[in-house]
Amino acid sequence: MAADDVPAPFLLSLQKNLRALFGFQLSIGDQSNPWNASPSLLSHIDTHVWNETFLSSTLRDMSSAVSAFAAPTPSHSTFTASRRDNQRLLKRSAAPKSRARAMASNTVASAPVPIMVNDLTGKMGRAVADAVVARSKDQCFLIPVAFSGDAKDAVDVGGVKVEIKSIREGDPGAVLEELKTEYPDMIVVDYTLPAAVNANADLYVKHQMPFVMGTTGGDREKLFADVKKSKLNAVIAPQMGKQVVAFQAAMRLMGENFPGAFKGYTLEVIESHQTSKVDTSGTAKAIVQSFNDLGCGFDIKDVTLVRDVPTQLNEMKVPEEYLLGHAYHTYRLKSPDGTVSFEFQHNVCGRSIYAEGTVDAALFLSGKVAQGGESSKTVYDMIDVLKEGGMVTN
Ligand code: NAD
Repeated sequence: MAADDVPAPFLLSLQKNLRALFGFQLSIGDQSNPWNASPSLLSHIDTHVWNETFLSSTLRDMSSAVSAFAAPTPSHSTFTASRRDNQRLLKRSAAPKSRARAMASNTVASAPVPIMVNDLTGKMGRAVADAVVARSKDQCFLIPVAFSGDAKDAVDVGGVKVEIKSIREGDPGAVLEELKTEYPDMIVVDYTLPAAVNANADLYVKHQMPFVMGTTGGDREKLFADVKKSKLNAVIAPQMGKQVVAFQAAMRLMGENFPGAFKGYTLEVIESHQTSKVDTSGTAKAIVQSFNDLGCGFDIKDVTLVRDVPTQLNEMKVPEEYLLGHAYHTYRLKSPDGTVSFEFQHNVCGRSIYAEGTVDAALFLSGKVAQGGESSKTVYDMIDVLKEGGMVTN
């Protein structure tokens, strides 16, 4: 494929919108001829600079890019359908700017949202609890009771003494009912273990407790089916990092809009996580799917998994203090003749990006509960949170 086939309007749109989203300049070399150099997408994601216009603006720019870009499409009907989908998306995401603000003011200006975090003695739960207490008191506060696998000593989270009860002993349903009486608008956040996902969701459903499920694994099909059937409001998302989710969404749209744009290009994918993580990153799998839609033909088994400390420190440049909690991803594309290359990278250190996204999701969910039965949809993911601009940066 000739380099000229790469959609310039998309690259320029990506540059503009990433600058708006992340607050830094994306280098695309010669502006008049953007494919003369490789874009290096360095998402220093722990900078929480969120701009709610990103998605609608990207969709608008991509939509005009699609009109301008006469790429050969393998199937006209597929292309037309995905364009129609994007127009629909565009209408949904561009129109409700005022709704997004109303939504934010709903969640921010109304009474602060009580949030229960299970299990805040775990790594993610603790990060979320810290993020809750760090938020403005007008937005949310931490409920001083939490469930863990076993009863434990009380924990101090930024001055809030939280009682830790066992979810397996006594009557956890009665505990939830009691809390609901005291905090009628409460939202539960769940970061526990894959083995606990379905049982915990059953408990929340039984007691009509709107929840944000950040825990991965379990029987996902059953989870979605049970929660949908109950009509309980919930956000279920294995990836709560809002900027990462936005990047995934942009890549998915790129794949849908420009099928085959990178046909013939070779792809190299390297991801690094803490040594204890044995499987391939779910985020890498999702992004690879988009690259395959763009024509790369990459086998997910060929992702390079870096799990050894010397490589992480010396080659990946992971800071030592984040060896036990990081998510580094690099995607390198090269044209068949080797004259054109692209590199995308998102490197996350620590858990704050997921914790902040989780608090945003809880506030979004509280807004949905307050809207009552307006929508037939009750189970949401982070794309829904992003689309409605329900992102509140600390
Ligand atoms: P962790 O092992 O540090 O914490 C899990 C805690 O859950 C432990 O304290 C354990 O005692 C407790 N627990 C076990 N069973 C329980 C139950 N039935 N009810 C309540 N608590 C129970 O694990 P972690 O690193 O905090 O990760 C938790 C989960 O979050 C994992 O599934 C992980 O993959 C997921 N995760 C999701 C995201 C995201 O963005 N959605 C980000 C990071 C991690």
